[in-house]
Amino acid sequence: MSEKTKAELLAEELGYAPTHAMKQIDEDEVRAADEFCVGYMQFLNECKTEREAVAFMQRAAEERGFEPFDREKRYACGDKVYYVNRGKAIILAVFGKKSVREGVRIAAAHIDSPRLDLKPSPLYEDEETALFKTHYYGGIKKYQWTAIPLSLHGVVYRKDGTGVTVSLGEKEGEPKFVITDLLPHLAREQDKRTLADGIKGEELNVLVGSRPFCADAGSELVKLNILKILNEKYDMTEKDFLSAELEVVPAMPVCDIGFDRSMIGGYGHDDRVCAYPSAMAAFDIETPEYTCVTVLTDKEETGSDGNTGLNSSYMAYFLYDLAAAAGCAGYEVLRNSKCLSADVNAAFDPTFPSVQEKKNASYINRGVVITKYTGARGKSGTSDASAEYMSFVRQILDKEKVVWQQGELGAVDAGGGGTVAKYIAKLDVDVVDVGVPVLSMHAPFEVVSKLDVYMAYRAFKAFYEA
Ligand code: MN
Ligand code: MN
Repeated sequence: MSEKTKAELLAEELGYAPTHAMKQIDEDEVRAADEFCVGYMQFLNECKTEREAVAFMQRAAEERGFEPFDREKRYACGDKVYYVNRGKAIILAVFGKKSVREGVRIAAAHIDSPRLDLKPSPLYEDEETALFKTHYYGGIKKYQWTAIPLSLHGVVYRKDGTGVTVSLGEKEGEPKFVITDLLPHLAREQDKRTLADGIKGEELNVLVGSRPFCADAGSELVKLNILKILNEKYDMTEKDFLSAELEVVPAMPVCDIGFDRSMIGGYGHDDRVCAYPSAMAAFDIETPEYTCVTVLTDKEETGSDGNTGLNSSYMAYFLYDLAAAAGCAGYEVLRNSKCLSADVNAAFDPTFPSVQEKKNASYINRGVVITKYTGARGKSGTSDASAEYMSFVRQILDKEKVVWQQGELGAVDAGGGGTVAKYIAKLDVDVVDVGVPVLSMHAPFEVVSKLDVYMAYRAFKAFYEA
């Protein structure tokens, strides 16, 4: 290679020009990234819902010596505990050398993803087909959810209070489900709709059967036959849908993308692609300076409301318990705490450049993204991280040679969004969004880069170890 010119050297010293991670790391680290992603892909295949992600992480935590949190117990540096909130959120904590009075380190990711929830009374028959009515959960482009294989996940609680877990359509040989779309030949009127209305919310009806129960005469025998199958399989009746949470999600397995296998395609990268690395970082620390708290939360995609989302007090209450044990006030712990809100950002898509501002967008393969603020219409509805806190995070990542970039969520007034950051900021905690850039975010099949996934893990680990 020819030597760098004076101008090139000066530009390197004074400028900011993020580059492809491959230009910043060696082969060993590329290999480590690919290996890390094998585990991530397995997690993504196994966990399609928040409940499944909690069960996975609880099991993984127990295997690594984490114990259920007991507020009466006194914990020492290196002790590891977990706390499950209603089966849909989990907190993993590793106790540090310092008292929690000096604050804790929090990484908070969400484990819910956009999907279709069954309505409380979902099953109906129309022209001898049985279908489920759905109500979509989170921000989706509805047309993307038709004509793809779907699976059903969740829980059903019966009249007597007993429950059953449902997962159908993932394993080899299991039936799947589908939402039908109109053939192009007869779509002349549909084609005139706007993209937003191409498929309407009440058209997201899932096809679940087409053969009647033939033993007797009667009406709606296809529906009856489905009820019979549901009764045999899950010991449930139609009324039990009222006390169920059933989620329809894409049934495509996760896979490598590209000739070079540099990317991962799959459902639910947002935000399991931050949840998994932050949990792995928690699993890989032993005796941190500060107590490290990994929060894997629910309900982010619908605005964090509800008692399993971060607009509830469950995380604060957990920290209050730690504070009480340390003999200090809960707000002291919060005020001194620092948080990485671990969430994805929209990667620059060369096919749709106009919604991004190139100089401030995030790009796949340039490492983990620090997103100073999100929001919409003049930064409304966001926690804008302070210069001081940006400086703190930057230094940690640079010290550990984590490949990172900054990224705004889209060009000004192109749209916008939010994360859990503002709910954590509300608790008087320093917080900034740090996560993985995603292509086709919120689609049934999203894409991330393996190097970025690994850099997210490195970032959370560096934060916990600082
Ligand atoms: Mn997210
Ligand atoms: Mn999202």
